[in-house]
Amino acid sequence: MRVLIIEDNFRLAELMGRGIANCGFSPDIVSSIGDAEAALADANYDAIILDLGLPDGDGLVWLRRERSKAPLPPVLILTARDGLGDRVAGLDAGGDDYLIKPVEIEELAARLRALLRRPGPRGQPVIRIGRLTFDVAARSGAIDGRTLELTRREADLLELLVRRVGTVVRRSMIEEALYRFDEAVTPNAVEAIVSRLRHKLNDADRPDVLITVRGMGYMIRDSGA
Ligand code: CA
Repeated sequence: MRVLIIEDNFRLAELMGRGIANCGFSPDIVSSIGDAEAALADANYDAIILDLGLPDGDGLVWLRRERSKAPLPPVLILTARDGLGDRVAGLDAGGDDYLIKPVEIEELAARLRALLRRPGPRGQPVIRIGRLTFDVAARSGAIDGRTLELTRREADLLELLVRRVGTVVRRSMIEEALYRFDEAVTPNAVEAIVSRLRHKLNDADRPDVLITVRGMGYMIRDSGA
């Protein structure tokens, strides 16, 4: 996942870049608004880390202007401005998350993963979990960009699981989500769908992400955790 770091403190930018690269992201670093605009025109990014005090302008002003123009990837504001008013202004200007410097790399990476999972109203409604993506609008799943051939119920199940990544989803909840109340559900129906979905996920050559938690239900593993 490509991340654009907009930060004019070179040492901090390098540190963040190395840190999130170790967590599996592919960062590009720019140090000004001008360079950020050039980078965004040039490549597709999955997320932006935005410092506010930049040599050629205020990141907040830039963000508000960009948000009103075109869809931007999710933006995580990372700044020393720690007042309540600053945080509110940052989120109101179009920031999707707001972190105060200094920040631990582990938290930064976790916030990025959370942003990338979130089906933002203005961003692309795509939930990403490692190599697996789920397009909420198209109701389709893909691994490394290769679309999985899913039935409607398999897609429903995948959505249910990816939206609760890292937590166990009970079988009763899956039944309720997948079947109308007037539909008869055979005892093994959920197991059968889970099993078909798991095969399709595994056919795409990945470690088992859809796991059974005995006696409880099913879970998609958070590959970033
Ligand atoms: Ca700065």
